[in-house]
Amino acid sequence: MDWSERSRRAVWHPCTQMKVHDTHPPRPIVSAQGPWLVDDRGHRILDAVSSWWVNLFGHGFAPIREAIADQLQRVDHIMLAGLTHPPVVELSERLGQLTGLGHAFYASDGASATEIALKMSAHSWRNRGREGKHRFICLQGGYHGETAGALSVTDIPLFRESYAPLLRLSATLPSPDPRHAAPGVSPAQHTQHCIDALAAYLDEHHAQIAALILEPLIQGAAGMGMYLPDYLSAVRRLCDQYEVHWIADEIAVGFGRTGTMFAHQQALGDDGVPVKPDFICLSKGLTGGVLPLSAVLTTDEVYQAFWDDRTTHGFLHSHSYTGNPLACRAALAVLDTFADSDVLGDNRRAAERLDELAQPITDHPRVKTSRRLGMVWAWDVDVADPTFASRYHRAALDEGLLLRPIGPTLYFMPPYVLGEAEQRHLAEGALRVLDRVLAEEGSAAAQASEVAVP
Ligand SMILES: *Cc1c(COP(=O)(O)O)cnc(C)c1O
Repeated sequence: MDWSERSRRAVWHPCTQMKVHDTHPPRPIVSAQGPWLVDDRGHRILDAVSSWWVNLFGHGFAPIREAIADQLQRVDHIMLAGLTHPPVVELSERLGQLTGLGHAFYASDGASATEIALKMSAHSWRNRGREGKHRFICLQGGYHGETAGALSVTDIPLFRESYAPLLRLSATLPSPDPRHAAPGVSPAQHTQHCIDALAAYLDEHHAQIAALILEPLIQGAAGMGMYLPDYLSAVRRLCDQYEVHWIADEIAVGFGRTGTMFAHQQALGDDGVPVKPDFICLSKGLTGGVLPLSAVLTTDEVYQAFWDDRTTHGFLHSHSYTGNPLACRAALAVLDTFADSDVLGDNRRAAERLDELAQPITDHPRVKTSRRLGMVWAWDVDVADPTFASRYHRAALDEGLLLRPIGPTLYFMPPYVLGEAEQRHLAEGALRVLDRVLAEEGSAAAQASEVAVP
């Protein structure tokens, strides 16, 4: 039996209707180097979604590999209660320097980071005698993970539907994504409408609200919805005015993805200085996509709310692998790479080249909207067929491309290491696949497909 068949029997795959594997089994990958994956038959596949948005510098990136190997000789893993270790200290200090948020709490995945930020916010208000502030605000189309707490601030119906009775849903306010703008309304006007809606909601409900959580600049799971930084400037102002924490979920957009080290840094306050959230959630690119690790960074003010002689006033949350030393070393290697080379500048130049190569996709008669921010490209295809995404995904694999459209939105989120030939493979292949998939609309192949998920 091959790997695919054995996986089908024994592995319950994420975000997957397993019955689909009867007709479309999972592709076994047996090696990975740079942006390339190699399957068990020797086919090369370009990882154009950075393996679910985690990979920054390609697979097998030497600095990360060497850092992990070195750490393995020192301390593999220890518990972080009552003990500490150099990598977690250094990582916390450096993340504090980069963000201005000097207190770092760790977990192993993005959803847990969301849980931590929500719990920490509500608990900090409670410790300060404001028990009533324990509700949250999220945005239309927002995604913050799929554990019960994270799902309660996630507005992706497909992910939430079956679990709705388990959740305490949060207030969902209009998204500044201009794709939601009414006809004739400009992106700037739409942004202002969303700011006004937030202001009105806060004015009425602020006494119950602990925090507002959002994905800065790009709402990933909503189909790479990109919005103006002005919204974030207003969020900072309003959250200050109404004493509500702002949680910036940078899990997908951190580490240069939007063109700045962190996405929220593109939003300026009235003083012309980049705004600072009260909490920042990091994961995905934090370790360059090599080991599971997440971090929640917060302010002195939040930290001080827990500083007390009473144990119950401490932040009582723990994960077995909190601050794993190997993962922290991988993260330090990522920060070293940003410090030692002009990653953001190199990305800017590479992105301009890929813009040109992908121009035929933008100009395609069936493409409605095209957009790019930093190292994320997205196109909304004029297609009503709900099977478009899954058919595209499979056709792309045949072209040597890992691409998974979200509904009608085709997107690239490649590792930062594509050379010109690889960019060309991506842009030309993606266009060919688009034409092929659109051509089979209404055919038996299209009828037989299922609805895909991100
Ligand atoms: C992926 C993601 C998460 C969840 O992270 P997991 O590690 O998958 O739990 C949360 N928020 C955003 C914005 C994400 O993209």
